[in-house]
Amino acid sequence: MLEQIKKEICDIGDRIYKKGFATGNDGNISYRLNENEVVCTPTMISKGFMTPDDLCIVNMNGEQIAGKRKMTSEIKLHLTLMKELPEVKSVVHCHPPYATAFGIARELIPLGVMPEIEVQLGEVPIVHYAIPGSQELADTILPIAHKSRVCVLANHGTLSWGDTVEHAYWWTEMLDGYCRLLMLAHNLGNVGYFSRQDIQDLLELKKRWNVADPRTSMEGIDIGDNDVFRDLWEKAGFGHRAFVPPGTKSNGFGNAVDLDAITDIIAEKVAKKLKEN
Ligand SMILES: [Zn+2]
Repeated sequence: MLEQIKKEICDIGDRIYKKGFATGNDGNISYRLNENEVVCTPTMISKGFMTPDDLCIVNMNGEQIAGKRKMTSEIKLHLTLMKELPEVKSVVHCHPPYATAFGIARELIPLGVMPEIEVQLGEVPIVHYAIPGSQELADTILPIAHKSRVCVLANHGTLSWGDTVEHAYWWTEMLDGYCRLLMLAHNLGNVGYFSRQDIQDLLELKKRWNVADPRTSMEGIDIGDNDVFRDLWEKAGFGHRAFVPPGTKSNGFGNAVDLDAITDIIAEKVAKKLKEN
């Protein structure tokens, strides 16, 4: 089993590298073998060129117990998440360019654009910036661990987790693909958003498929307005600049957004101009 897991980590490392999700020695991948052993990628290696012999084994205290190379410096992040979520076997961290760009621009990832994203990912949490490799960065994950399977690390990259290495990787790939499409549509000049009823229908579908979504279990949540993780993204300095879905209460920078009022003002001005001509 160990050899099979090591091979799977190398294969996912290859996919991460080929997708451009990790430059230089960026990124790290882990898999929990049992209660006290985790296999992980080493530091200072390209994720696209690893062999099973390069991988390390650490215990749950973050001490290396096997492997000729030195373990990843991000192991605390992986272990903190695994301790918090016993069902999680694998964690993937990398710097996928489109999702990471949202984390650098401090732009929230909008809800209500694509059905697969509503169902598979839901609201994507943001965690505030902290030094890579620190326990502080690892602890930023705790408030979101039970409510998501992927997150954006401000000014850094992404983290995703799951029951297999491939599943943990999927959520990163889906998130980056979504961010890419958002940017392409934005460049074309318009992003169409679902109505709240469309989102509600997708949440019901999600319930039938037994995929948990905190939007359905938390009180007082607007299902289309990034409410689940509002405290965290406000604290991290994120908001809506490029993507402002209809019904957004606040852009996150202290300004209320009332698109209807803005539309009325523009319509009035255009009508006045037309009359003048
Ligand atoms: Zn990183």
